[in-house]
Amino acid sequence: MMPVATAIPQFDLTRQYQHYREVFLPITQAVLAGGAYIGGETVARFEQAFAEYVGVPYCISCNSGTDALYLALRALNIGSGDEVITAAFSFIATAEAISLTGATPVFVDVRPDTFNLDLEQVAHRLGKNTKAIMPVHLFGRPVEMTALNQLAQAHGVAVVEDCAQATGSRWQNRPVGQWGTLGCFSFYPTKNLGAMGDGGAITTHDPHLAQRLREIKNHGQRERYHSVTVGVNSRLDALQAALLTAKLAYLEQWLTQRRVLAERYRQLLADLPGLTLPQDCPGHSWNQFTVIIQSHHINRDDLRAKLQQAGIGTAIYYPVPLPLQPVYEFLQYDKQHIPHAVALSQRVLSLPLFPELTEAEQEQVAAAVRRVWRG
Ligand SMILES: *Cc1c(COP(=O)(O)O)cnc(C)c1O
Repeated sequence: MMPVATAIPQFDLTRQYQHYREVFLPITQAVLAGGAYIGGETVARFEQAFAEYVGVPYCISCNSGTDALYLALRALNIGSGDEVITAAFSFIATAEAISLTGATPVFVDVRPDTFNLDLEQVAHRLGKNTKAIMPVHLFGRPVEMTALNQLAQAHGVAVVEDCAQATGSRWQNRPVGQWGTLGCFSFYPTKNLGAMGDGGAITTHDPHLAQRLREIKNHGQRERYHSVTVGVNSRLDALQAALLTAKLAYLEQWLTQRRVLAERYRQLLADLPGLTLPQDCPGHSWNQFTVIIQSHHINRDDLRAKLQQAGIGTAIYYPVPLPLQPVYEFLQYDKQHIPHAVALSQRVLSLPLFPELTEAEQEQVAAAVRRVWRG
């Protein structure tokens, strides 16, 4: 049988554009006509709006979520000889940012019920070289930041939150990105608040770190043409800043839609043996709806292929745990020390989820999944 074209994609950015054209086009035109494409008022206004949204005094915009993580570690003077503890199950950028500073990532296993860092394992791995803990709020599910901060404070290490998938997530009713020493965000188009290109930001309460971040992201310059440190060029451009400022006004509404969709999936897919659905928790922003297939009869990759044949797009976040990536072979991690990350990498599947997905489409997805279960 010929595979049919994807009728229900894993995500679709064109629907949002169609819906908000009348908002986006005049903004785009105004930036183009204004001639200030880099920096200036537009970028400053977004930084202020995003700082307010996260509930911190400082927001420093940059080119991407990856840069946000890298810049955060650099601002903390983390480098060669230092260790940063993070999750074994995440996107490569999390680990890459650590390695780029010259520091060593220390990977700990995640919990299968939350997909997030197992704090007991974090406690075991804190050592004399540990300089920071980097929790990842994976799929939008907030990490238990109260306990994590206690652990970090007791050991005198910094906390760098990877909020890339969690813009708008809350822990104990306070936004992620305000709990850690620094909060790192991505505005990649498929994230909760997505630009029409690349973008990122760092949030903090600390004026000194804010100042240092502004220097590092701008060629290490304290004043123009006077560099005090080796920096990079990492800018959010004015067009992205203008579009993000406009989109920020709709974010809560989009997050509500994501929560409704997640709840509906949980109802539509309840009671299938060997299909574990992601648990709800207060403050979850549902960037992804990721199920775990642990059936003896149904294998994840078969399910994915059958859904694809039915025109339903899915994604595997992530097929290889970070310490088992070829790039980290030299660290010689043993699979046995990260059993949950290994099992998840073989069993997870992320279903279509984006604010504009319709109820009828969700019913089609659920019906297709049920057909596979019936065999
Ligand atoms: C997307 C993502 C990043 C990187 O963000 P970019 O803007 O694509 O550089 C980092 N960490 C996690 C967990 C992500 O999902």
